[in-house]
Amino acid sequence: MEAAVGDFAKKIVCIGAGYVGGPTMAVIAHHCPEYRVTVVDISREKIALWNSEQLPIYEPGLYERVAKARGHNLFFSTEIDKEISEADIVFVTVNTPTKTYGEGAGRTVDLQFIEQTARRIKANAGSDTIVVEKSTIPVRAAETLRRILHSGNDGVHFEILSNPEFMAEGTAVRDMEQPDRILVGSMDTPSGLKARDELTKIYEHWVPAERILTTNLWSSELSKLVANAFLAQRISSINSISALCEMTEADVTQVGHAVGMDSRIGAKFLNAGVGFGGSCFRKDLLNLIYLCEHYGLHPVAEFWQKVVDINDFQMQRFVHRMITAMFNSVVGKKIAIFGFAFKPDTGDTRDAPAIHICRSLLEERAWLSITDPYALDNARKDLEGFPGEIDYGTDPYEAVKGAHAIALLTEWENYRGLDYKKIYESMEKPAFLFDGRNHLDHDALFDIGFNVYGVGKPAREHFD
Ligand code: NAD
Repeated sequence: MEAAVGDFAKKIVCIGAGYVGGPTMAVIAHHCPEYRVTVVDISREKIALWNSEQLPIYEPGLYERVAKARGHNLFFSTEIDKEISEADIVFVTVNTPTKTYGEGAGRTVDLQFIEQTARRIKANAGSDTIVVEKSTIPVRAAETLRRILHSGNDGVHFEILSNPEFMAEGTAVRDMEQPDRILVGSMDTPSGLKARDELTKIYEHWVPAERILTTNLWSSELSKLVANAFLAQRISSINSISALCEMTEADVTQVGHAVGMDSRIGAKFLNAGVGFGGSCFRKDLLNLIYLCEHYGLHPVAEFWQKVVDINDFQMQRFVHRMITAMFNSVVGKKIAIFGFAFKPDTGDTRDAPAIHICRSLLEERAWLSITDPYALDNARKDLEGFPGEIDYGTDPYEAVKGAHAIALLTEWENYRGLDYKKIYESMEKPAFLFDGRNHLDHDALFDIGFNVYGVGKPAREHFD
């Protein structure tokens, strides 16, 4: 039987049952048994999946957390208004995609879901409520939220906090349980500081106090955009150098290693590849660029725009290298795509480099055979209606049969352990392997007979 609301110390509601809302609330519910946590969403389908054995997203460790807490202090529901009316704390984790229409299209954030959510909270909140922005939004968005929430509503006080989420997909549960930091931004007023303490009290259940950082609201909002911009910038920096390596016979792995050993620089995020993807990096960079333009900071906007441009250049370069290596044409040639997700251990394909690369290859009239352990449903949707021949399957050995080339686009661990001799034998010759993540053993592959192309590495080609 469902536990009654009155049995719990506090009631948390999270609006948006996506990649952030679901895992965050599962972790809070797991560590805070005295809180009643309900995740709500407008999507009935998604909520039904959260209530089933087949969760709508794949994350290592997530199912175990959900299964343990669900029905005890973790609930998934579509009764948004009722849940808001009973909540003490409302987390907002709705999507904030890049706007696709009208002013700022392709650059700024579409805030319609945030605004709809704010209006719904205002209409239904029964008593003073803490509203926590967890979605990534432009700096000073809390001011917009505050104005909507308080307009014509004098009876209830809303305190807005910024608590951006820094988890990475594929390691969401681990990142939430052992975060580098938890950031809470608040107004510097007595009610703001009280709300801030209320939120930090939740995290203190499992996060050491020194990792819980408190700032003003605007610093917190901006820090999330800047963190993603810096991460994306590291990737574009090393990818820009990978282009130079391919021209000069330098090896980007060796360069990255040598550079990263400088303790001022550090070794992380220095692996060259086909480019960054995912729902956040491009979107948050574009958002930052738009904000800079809005404030007339054009050189700053141009600086960050280059990070996006290099990412696009990197994907185009990869396709160009494939076509050039395969005798300037891929027409009618079967190419096995190893991995479609934007990174391993997730089925998420939002803005995955694979989408851009596969579309370019289809435009060149290649025949694609796409394999991925978790992302095939999303891949089908991403390429739906796109002209060309595409097969999908989870078995890489099937995907390579009769293929001229393999393009590895996601560094799934299992791709390392495949029998590449067997794979080579079942392919057309000459057989090409384009390792878009520098994930495989290139020497061994070359010895088997493959022509091997790593990113930022000299081509390994057989000429006999
Ligand atoms: P998502 O698309 O997976 O989930 C958002 C959910 O919100 C959807 O299920 C949607 O149906 C629901 N929703 C939209 N409008 C609603 C409304 N009015 N009422 C109720 N539900 C509504 O998005 P996500 O990946 O979880 O991202 C959410 C936010 O967190 C975004 O701002 C994103 O930038 C940020 N973020 C994402 C990640 C990530 O890795 N995915 C990491 C950090 C931050």
